[in-house]
Amino acid sequence: MSNNTLNLTPEVYEYLQKNSLRESEPLRELRKLTQSMSTAGMQISPEQGQFMQLLVKLSGAKKTLEIGVFTGYSTLSVALALPANGKIVACDINKEWTQIAARFWETAGVRAKIDLRLAPALETLAELVAAGESDSFDFAFIDADKLNYLKYYEFALQLVRPGGLIVIDNVLWDGDVAKAEVNDASTKVLRELNQKIYRDERVMISMLPVGDGVTLALKK
Ligand code: SAH
Ligand code: CA
Repeated sequence: MSNNTLNLTPEVYEYLQKNSLRESEPLRELRKLTQSMSTAGMQISPEQGQFMQLLVKLSGAKKTLEIGVFTGYSTLSVALALPANGKIVACDINKEWTQIAARFWETAGVRAKIDLRLAPALETLAELVAAGESDSFDFAFIDADKLNYLKYYEFALQLVRPGGLIVIDNVLWDGDVAKAEVNDASTKVLRELNQKIYRDERVMISMLPVGDGVTLALKK
């Protein structure tokens, strides 16, 4: 018994997965395919996908934003949890990876829910603001290039409605954020963002040791 967070040993992690993971067929297939790629480590963990599905259902989200698609696992997770008239604006710059994503979205029957924008996310986000879509998203997931995370956070905060949820991935950055000797650019940005969100009165927060660290920020 402890009032700390449990240290997840490989055995406990395996137990957690065996006793909670309900990964549906299209997600399992996509994960299997992605695992064969050298970049597979960028994909969110399956229990994180399931957690995000629960958040989407819990919040009754209909209109969501995703920054960083890769082969589409997080997008597919959210799409499957959205209602039939739900929409995701999904941002990425990589054609090859998002083509894989689109193939799996199609097979899973959710392609029509996803508006894929193949362009630097900062451009797409600025377009959304210019198109008057501020305060209109129910949910946003930030998981693209870490160097732009501060800007992605500000855009997401502008685009979600009051009561909308922003989910930020990789906030613990493999533990590097807590190691004083690690000072590369991405680690510094993540530290800066974590500090900024910690002090940000515009949101209610929770930082969770799920996957590589996930912060939930609810816009007040
Ligand atoms: N959420 C994904 C993982 C995303 S990996 C999953 O669940 O599998 C990060 C992604 O960010 C990559 O696909 C990369 O192409 C994309 N990316 C990097 N820089 C970007 C930019 N400037 N604009 C949009 N996407 C970017
Ligand atoms: Ca990630």
